[in-house]
Amino acid sequence: GVDREEVQKLAAKVGDMGLAAEEFSKKKKTRDRKLTVADIHSGLYNIANTSGEGSVEKKISALSELLKKSNYSSAKFLIRITLAKLRLGVGDSTILDALSTAKFGDKSARQKLEEAYNKTSDLGFVAKTLWSQGLTAIEKVELQVGKPVRPALAERLPDAEAMIKRVGDTFAVEPKYDGFRVAIHKKGKQVWLFSRNLESMTHMFPDLVAAVKEELAGVESAIFEGEAIAYNPLTEEFLPFQETTKRRRKHSVEEFAQKLPLKLFAFDLLYLNGKDITKLSYTDRRKKMEKIIDKEGVLLIAKEKILHNAEELKNMFEEQIAAGLEGVMVKKLDAPYKAGGRGFHWIKFKRASAGELTDTIDCVLLGVYSGKGKRTEFGVGGLLVGLYDPEKDEFPTVSRVGTGLTDEEWKRIYKIFQELKTDKKPARVNAKVVPTFWVEPKQVLEIFADEITRSPMHTAGKTGDDHGYALRFPRLISFREDKRAEDATTVKELIKMYNQQRKVKV
Ligand code: ATP
Repeated sequence: GVDREEVQKLAAKVGDMGLAAEEFSKKKKTRDRKLTVADIHSGLYNIANTSGEGSVEKKISALSELLKKSNYSSAKFLIRITLAKLRLGVGDSTILDALSTAKFGDKSARQKLEEAYNKTSDLGFVAKTLWSQGLTAIEKVELQVGKPVRPALAERLPDAEAMIKRVGDTFAVEPKYDGFRVAIHKKGKQVWLFSRNLESMTHMFPDLVAAVKEELAGVESAIFEGEAIAYNPLTEEFLPFQETTKRRRKHSVEEFAQKLPLKLFAFDLLYLNGKDITKLSYTDRRKKMEKIIDKEGVLLIAKEKILHNAEELKNMFEEQIAAGLEGVMVKKLDAPYKAGGRGFHWIKFKRASAGELTDTIDCVLLGVYSGKGKRTEFGVGGLLVGLYDPEKDEFPTVSRVGTGLTDEEWKRIYKIFQELKTDKKPARVNAKVVPTFWVEPKQVLEIFADEITRSPMHTAGKTGDDHGYALRFPRLISFREDKRAEDATTVKELIKMYNQQRKVKV
């Protein structure tokens, strides 16, 4: 009932579409204010499931019906929910603790709930199962085709000898391909693709979808994971990460599928023909995978060597580095697939020169400093970054980053800053230092540093009067679009890296 322009004007003035809705709603007499939570839920559910021709009109009319019936504070929240702007400052781990506490009075069920969550990535489903069928049903939750699985991740160790100690005298080694991780789900003729941060990528990669349908036609259902890499069919060469990453796009999808076709190196099979096989050993899962991906097509199987000692491991590592790869993945033969966690079932082995850290650190952008000198033209001159602490569900600070960014990167940071800036310190950020502007903890930045040090300035790993941890000579390596803020390096991991770095030096 109001002009679009008037809505835009007010939203710009009050800084939030939800507040604008509240204002307009106050002025209007609503016909019926007896909307229940269930009404809102089914209204939003219908909107989410509307597709095809005329769907925009249908969505507008469904949303405006809900708005007309809402009182003013409901209107505010309704709009914030639809715009995904409702910020409660609560993360998944807090919800899991809350579910356990609500049902049992303490956090004792947290681990079991987390396992069910890791397998389905669906907190609503976990809550519903716990309430309707109890903890025994939670323990029996299995992978479901079509629901993304939280990925297994690799541990780090300082050198080949330390790795051998962990994995024993017979282990598998695969190249660490430098593309992006894709989880592929297939059931009958339906195919779903998910990114490392569990977002749907099905529409982004029509070539992979077609390949799965064709090359796995005989497989009734499966969930497997692999690394997708762009490939030049003329020279038969794999392209560097900067090229591959151009395929992560929402527009001109078909054009880029032609220009930069992908190959997928499958490295794990989690589910096959109706069965969750994550409890089987790496060796058994790999055998089953080799049976279904048995030809060279778009789908390939990750190369694998079974090795026995540090010498052989170092040789294979050098071979892969010489071939332009990032390094290798060492895999324990008898290990099950552990959804949603780092563990010594996989150990990553990357290049590290003396005194340097063996791995980059994935930080979360928490704030920006306004620019000085030349950098005023970019609007930002420095970054405040932090880590994630899942125990406290918060983001403590770990470093300022001010050098080593290209002009393009500063511009990109400025754009991100415009999208994420907030007027207050976000609830989950724990900081002693104050940047010029705070941003919502969302963007993950891959940072390389010379060293991890102790520092009184930063809150990462700070306990009592002891100093926190910080990064020395940090520089930006990449923008990680495939990680959520909660997937950033954790405080625990950083402390482990700090201790390993000291061991190497001694
Ligand atoms: P990084 O920052 O090193 O890319 P990450 O934090 O995304 O790592 P890690 O557990 O550290 O995850 O490393 C595993 C990643 O390496 C996987 O997510 C996957 O994308 C990639 N990868 C490449 N080759 C393999 C392989 N053969 N087996 C498992 N993962 C592989």
